[in-house]
Amino acid sequence: MLISRLKNAISFEPIRAIMRPSKCAVFSVKILCVSDLASSQLENAAHLRRRYYDIDLVVSCGDLPSAYLDFITSVLSVPLFYVRGNHDTMYDERPPGGDDLHQRILTYKGITFVGLEGSMRYNEAPIQYTEGEMSWKVTRLFVPLKISASQHRKVDIFVTHSPPRGIHDLSDKPHTGFKSFLRFMDWYQPRYLLHGHVHNYDNRAETKTLYKQTQVINVYPFKALEIEPRVSYET
Ligand SMILES: [Zn+2]
Repeated sequence: MLISRLKNAISFEPIRAIMRPSKCAVFSVKILCVSDLASSQLENAAHLRRRYYDIDLVVSCGDLPSAYLDFITSVLSVPLFYVRGNHDTMYDERPPGGDDLHQRILTYKGITFVGLEGSMRYNEAPIQYTEGEMSWKVTRLFVPLKISASQHRKVDIFVTHSPPRGIHDLSDKPHTGFKSFLRFMDWYQPRYLLHGHVHNYDNRAETKTLYKQTQVINVYPFKALEIEPRVSYET
């Protein structure tokens, strides 16, 4: 009995040490988010290096040429995470150099991402989904995201092309947002939902909206985001 208690006492501390978040410094992660429009500012290498020299990662919300994304990531020497927009059919032949986030959970520098591509179905072209199809994709992420959360990798950033229903979306069919993205935020509580697809020509248009615990941001045509990992991350 005494030996067994001693064994428990000895084995308890190392397990606690593994479970306890590291006490090293927390480094914020800087992300350049792009979508839908190749901006002349970001096509200027000197401007990119001067303005965004400290960017850690580029995230694309879709509808952008591969060459544009490759230019930005090669000038800044950073990785790319992306989802395809409804106009990105050319990626089948020439995808950008980076990781496709669609239906995948990826962690970079302590920040966990998950993505869902495409728009509401409005014709027979690819990379469009009905509400029912998108809802099924959200449901299928339930188990992988629960496992990820149990491993201290709760989703931080949900990357989509389309907006959620009723937030930054429009009344026409192609730009109608997905109700299932609201459910995604209800279930998985990401800190951010980044989307594109809706082009804002009016500076007064809302591009940042808080939905429960999630900041929803239309990144069109580009926005910089700084985020700290939930727990400290050792580089
Ligand atoms: Zn689009």
